[in-house]
Amino acid sequence: MKKFGLWLIILALTIGFGRVNRNYIRNQLILTQEENEYTVTMKRDLLCLMMAYPGHITGIEAEDGKGVFIVMRSGRRILYDDKKEKSFQEKLSSPDLQDMLEQIYPLEDIQSLMPPNFDPGRIRVYSFLHEVYGGSKAQVEGNLTNVKAGPQYILFNKQNGAAEALDMVMDELVPLAGSNPKIYPFVFPMSGTFNYRNIAGTGQLSPHAFGTAIDLARNNKDYWKWATREEGEKRLAVYPREIVKIFEKNRFVWGGKWTHFDILHFEYRPELILKARYFSGQAKPHQLWYEGLTSMDDTTRSYIQMIESALD
Ligand SMILES: [Zn+2]
Repeated sequence: MKKFGLWLIILALTIGFGRVNRNYIRNQLILTQEENEYTVTMKRDLLCLMMAYPGHITGIEAEDGKGVFIVMRSGRRILYDDKKEKSFQEKLSSPDLQDMLEQIYPLEDIQSLMPPNFDPGRIRVYSFLHEVYGGSKAQVEGNLTNVKAGPQYILFNKQNGAAEALDMVMDELVPLAGSNPKIYPFVFPMSGTFNYRNIAGTGQLSPHAFGTAIDLARNNKDYWKWATREEGEKRLAVYPREIVKIFEKNRFVWGGKWTHFDILHFEYRPELILKARYFSGQAKPHQLWYEGLTSMDDTTRSYIQMIESALD
C-alpha cells in the first residue's frame, strides 16, 4: 500500500511537470515565432530599401544595445527601429524606418476611401529623404531636372531614378490623356511638382520640397482638408484608374489610397511599391524570408548577403 502511494505521487509529479514543461516549450515557441516575424519583417524592409535606393545605401550595421542601422553613402547611419511605442500621430511626426514601411500599400484597385489611420506613404523619414534627394533647399534645387509633360516642362529630382520614373509615366500618360477626353481633365492642367514648403498645418516638409511628388489637375474634392469624406468618396469613384495604374507601375504611390486622401497627389516611393509587390503577405513557417521576390540577380543576392551577415 505504501508503495502504491509513492507511485501515485511520482505519477502526479510527472503529469504536473509535463504540463509545466509543455507550457514552457509553448511559450518559448510563441516568443520565437514573434521574434521570427519581427526579424523577417526587418530583413524584408531593409532589402526593399536597398533595392529601391541602390547606391544610396551602402551597408547595414547592427550594434549591441543600439539597434540596426542602414548606412548611407555619406556615412550617416539611420536607425531602423527606435523601439518606442507610438500612436499613429507620433509615427507621423517622429517616424523611424520601420514606421515608414509598416503599412503595406494596396496595389489592387480600391472601391472606397481607406479605413481610419491607413496612410501608406504619408509616413516619411526626413533624414533619409535628405540623404537621397538633397540636404537643403539649395541642394535639392541642384538635383532638379526638367521632365517633359505634354505641352510643359516640370521639375523633378534626378536622384534615385525619380525623374526617369516620371518621364516613363509621362510617356504613357500624355498620349492617353490626349486621346481620351474623359481622362484629359484629370491630368491637365497639372498643379505642380517641386515646391520647397511645409505640409500645411505641420512643421514638416512636404514631399514636394524634395521634387519627388506631382499634383495633377486640381479638384476641390481632392484633399481631406478641403472636402468631406462623402465628397472624397464621390471624387474617388470617378477618378480614372488608368492614371493610377501608370503611376504605380513606375513606383509611385497614390494619395487616393490614404485615409487622409490626397487624390491629385502621386509620390515616388519605390520602397513601398517593392514591398507591396513582393512582401505583402506574412512569411510562412519554413519559408525563406526573401521568398516572394519574383527574380533574383547578383545585386539582389549581394543585398541579401549583406543583411544576413549584419544580422547574424
Ligand atoms: Zn501633392
